[in-house]
Amino acid sequence: MSKIYNIGIIGGGVSGAVVALQSAKYGIDTVLFEQEKSLVNGPPFCHLHAGGNLYPDISDEQCRILMKQSIDMARLFPQSIDERPTFISIPKTEKYEVEKITSRLEMLVAYYTELINEDPNNEILGSPKDYYKIYAKKDLIALAEKPSVKRPNSADEWMSNTIKLIDHEKLKSPVILVQEYGWNLFRLGAQAQLALTKTEKCNLKLNTSVTNIKDVRDQNLDYNWEIVTGDIVYKVNYLVNSCGFKTGKIDESLHLNAKRLIEFKAAYVSKWQAIPGLIPELIFHGERGTPNGMAQLTPYFGDYYQLHGMTKDITLFENGLVHSNENEVQPEFNEDINQKIHRVWEDDEINTRTKNAIDFVAKFVPSFKSATVGGPPMYGAQQIPGDDPSLRVGEVSFPSKSYARSVIVKASSALTVANKIINKIQEENIIPTIHAQSNQNILLDRISNDEIDEKASELAIQRGYPEALSRLLIKKN
Ligand SMILES: Cc1cc2nc3c(=O)[nH]c(=O)nc-3n(C[C@H](O)[C@H](O)[C@H](O)COP(=O)(O)OP(=O)(O)OC[C@H]3O[C@@H](n4cnc5c(N)ncnc54)[C@H](O)[C@@H]3O)c2cc1C
Repeated sequence: MSKIYNIGIIGGGVSGAVVALQSAKYGIDTVLFEQEKSLVNGPPFCHLHAGGNLYPDISDEQCRILMKQSIDMARLFPQSIDERPTFISIPKTEKYEVEKITSRLEMLVAYYTELINEDPNNEILGSPKDYYKIYAKKDLIALAEKPSVKRPNSADEWMSNTIKLIDHEKLKSPVILVQEYGWNLFRLGAQAQLALTKTEKCNLKLNTSVTNIKDVRDQNLDYNWEIVTGDIVYKVNYLVNSCGFKTGKIDESLHLNAKRLIEFKAAYVSKWQAIPGLIPELIFHGERGTPNGMAQLTPYFGDYYQLHGMTKDITLFENGLVHSNENEVQPEFNEDINQKIHRVWEDDEINTRTKNAIDFVAKFVPSFKSATVGGPPMYGAQQIPGDDPSLRVGEVSFPSKSYARSVIVKASSALTVANKIINKIQEENIIPTIHAQSNQNILLDRISNDEIDEKASELAIQRGYPEALSRLLIKKN
């Protein structure tokens, strides 16, 4: 008789990979299907949203959840975190008042302190008193006179390096430096894939597309689902749908429906001249979807920079956001966007959009005008549960017995989803009660830094990106 798995997970993005990792560490038998060559190969991520400061309009509650979930994920995958801060500013042309962001910061410091009181190991964003620092115009003028520092060690040193490059006359005063860090997807993917390959508790099926699912819950068998991949059938007790923007496809085959949006977006890879000292991620806020949408410059190793511009001719796309309806469980993009998802980009469009992004950032960082195209875009489609496109925290839903649908909007929610699913399978008596549940994962902790370096570099190259994107700006000890 063929093996019966406790859990069958469809989709090896960050969500599916973390469900598999957390399950395997408790000895739960899983099978994980990913249609691509490697794990965490879907839409990109580069920013650890530890406080939601990139989103002036979200609720305090979403900011707190983003902070907590980001800390949890950073503790699970420390080797993927780039410990450089984020510079936050609002251009004078924008309607937002700086107060909209500064007014939340003390609440976030208090919450961060609470998290550290609960567990001192949560202190991964530095001391709470250093979580943010506010700079008025006169502070910036003074810091511009200080020499640049190759590897800054204080908020003032980061700001001093930054302010010499920025046209701060265009920005409202004050500006902010906050401890929201960089997040390297190649390193996270590498660590997850190495750990799952080594454990006997996960049958990792890469290059394997799930083509059908049979619901046998009412047949009184020893298992609940048959997962079909080509001509092989896998028997599982619990089904996890972590197909990202394709979760609707699985729902469709199970005759389930749920409101959902899917959105296609892209960031661009650029190469710039060497500059005297490291800089933080740079954020110039603006109203999304207008010609002045937010500009974001994310520094990587080797003078590479990833760029977002929240306008239709840079990160966003005409018809890039589509929704489900009563007859269409899985929303569909038009042909043009489908081709891009499947890696068919015209060179002209890569060049034009990357150059648009460079010019967009150069409005605030004039010398960035000399940057050039540094590689293919980093792009993908993601899901947003419900019908509110500004939602930033999605987790998991349990629409029927023995079935979970992961609906994360940010990569940081992956561990929360995994924990909720593991609780659910205990409730359903699919596995015995786990007495000592914790977030720590021995399977991940066993992977050495050298192994991560090697695998992350292999993944970047395999996906057509410069190898430098797999490295951290600030190497871990
Ligand atoms: C441009 C952009 C920038 C972003 N930046 C950030 C950021 O800075 N920080 C952040 O936290 N989040 C960011 N996000 C969001 C983040 O990328 C997503 O929330 C996250 O990657 C979703 O992970 P997932 O595992 O749910 O889905 P996915 O990563 O999409 O994984 C789903 C997987 O399922 C597989 N799959 C689908 N169908 C099948 C099938 N039938 N059989 C087998 N496999 C299948 C797919 O191949 C895919 O690998 C960004 C998103 C975009 C688009």
